Amino acid sequence: MGILQVQNVNKSFGGLKALNNVNLDIEEGSVHAIIGPNGAGKSTLLNCFVGRLRPDTGTVKFNGRSLLGLSPHEINQVGVARVFQTPEIFSDLTLLENVMIPALAVRDGAFRINGWGRVDAQADIRERAEAMLADVGLADKLTDHSGNLSRGDKRRLELAMCLVQSPKLVLLDEPTAGMSRADTNNTIDLLARMSEQHGVTKIIIEHDMHVVFSLAKRITVFAQGHPIVEGTPEQIKGDPKVKEAYLGG
Ligand code: ADP
Ligand code: MG
Repeated sequence: MGILQVQNVNKSFGGLKALNNVNLDIEEGSVHAIIGPNGAGKSTLLNCFVGRLRPDTGTVKFNGRSLLGLSPHEINQVGVARVFQTPEIFSDLTLLENVMIPALAVRDGAFRINGWGRVDAQADIRERAEAMLADVGLADKLTDHSGNLSRGDKRRLELAMCLVQSPKLVLLDEPTAGMSRADTNNTIDLLARMSEQHGVTKIIIEHDMHVVFSLAKRITVFAQGHPIVEGTPEQIKGDPKVKEAYLGG
């Protein structure tokens, strides 16, 4: 039994069936990619995992426990964290503060801003946040304003914000979207290293096949709201159904 089990999930927007009877079983500790053409329903599925959308029917279970009906915050607290398609960071705050906020939110359910307009945290949270930023290669920018970061560094910051929560499952929606080739390769290295160090299960939605084949051990291909093929990277590479889905044949 996998760490995340999705059964018979359906989701429509008006007359459009964005998810059509989705079944998925994600093995604990794996890096599992979900690929497929634009509009295939990948982000909709992720939104169902994190409480942003509620499926019309079906079940989503994490470690045997239903995620449906939990708030996004409650889902974070059971150990599921997400890296968004567009970075969601507080650009007026420092990198350190941006990492302390999710650490506090998961531990205490809240964070406080003090009279100086800074995030209030005890030494242990600060140390964890510093260590996490060092881990992603941002040790020399702890007190920089996050708004001034390059796109690649913002992604690193976001990963630190995600991993500081000590999640068991990380959901990444197009983690290299809009990046240069150099930043993409840096992100691949970072994600690969994170898998080894932290042993967390990852689900990666990705367009870039270079990223998918560099990281994923297992791949599910979506088309028109439905998983059409699942297998190892080698199996997926040669599958005619995959080519057909991408070429719209
Ligand atoms: P992907 O991430 O695979 O590109 P999405 O999950 O974003 O695809 O979208 C699947 C389909 O659902 C698309 O046709 C999209 O236009 C539609 N869709 C997604 N979100 C909404 C929404 N909130 N309201 C209406 N339609 C939506
Ligand atoms: Mg998407």
